Amino acid sequence: STPSLKWRRVLLKVSGEALAGDHAQNIDPKVTMSIAREVAAVTRLGIEVAIVVGGGNIFRGASWAGSSGLDRSSADYIGMLATVMNAIYLQATMESIGIPTRVQTAFRMSEVAEPYIRRRAVRHLEKGRVVIFAAGTGNPFFTTDTAAALRCAEINAEVVLKATNVDGVFDDDPRHNPNARIFDTLTYQEVTSKDLSVMDMTAITLCQENNIPVVVFNLNQPGNIAKAIKGERVGTLIGG
Ligand code: UDP
Repeated sequence: STPSLKWRRVLLKVSGEALAGDHAQNIDPKVTMSIAREVAAVTRLGIEVAIVVGGGNIFRGASWAGSSGLDRSSADYIGMLATVMNAIYLQATMESIGIPTRVQTAFRMSEVAEPYIRRRAVRHLEKGRVVIFAAGTGNPFFTTDTAAALRCAEINAEVVLKATNVDGVFDDDPRHNPNARIFDTLTYQEVTSKDLSVMDMTAITLCQENNIPVVVFNLNQPGNIAKAIKGERVGTLIGG
């Protein structure tokens, strides 16, 4: 509808860590509200927004597996349930400011949210609703970054916008090395060969195989989410 906009349908990935902000609890209401406000602004422009939420602020399977005999699959199911908590919180925040939002879970929790149905998700987006995909891929041993790449491909979204707590992809950890330099653009090849910690290998490979560009940007910078969704230059662009 608005020809000057770069993307028509986007997949926004919000990590659990990003949701936590600097709040002592697992979720910072200021962060969820700023996400809701910025998403509201872009949906008004006609851009369709789907969101995949992480769960690392509450539970990360891999780091718990092994402790007290907890097997990896069980740990990962707990991790996936954590993403559902974040999704419901984010949905409630969005709806509190009038954005119609649906949560779809990768495994059934029908009393709480819709099950993931691709065509239904697309229909919601076409009607201007925000769709939040929860429970990752529904499979242990995967990540929500991989879920973001997968859902992006499935619903024919044009880009994965990865919201993080840093400005983009750096050549070293900017939290420890003040001289770390940010990349404006990167190829998938560079990400994998330089072993840059952007996404896990499964996620980045899935993006590469499906020619899905990835934008890594800082969600703590006010206005950045809206900018990223509108296709303005922000963070690091991975593609090609
Ligand atoms: N998880 C999983 N399968 C998936 C997605 C997530 O098993 O397809 C589990 C896994 O234990 C992971 C946790 O859910 O550690 C939370 O997701 P993730 O670590 O990707 O969240 P983020 O880092 O984005 O906060």
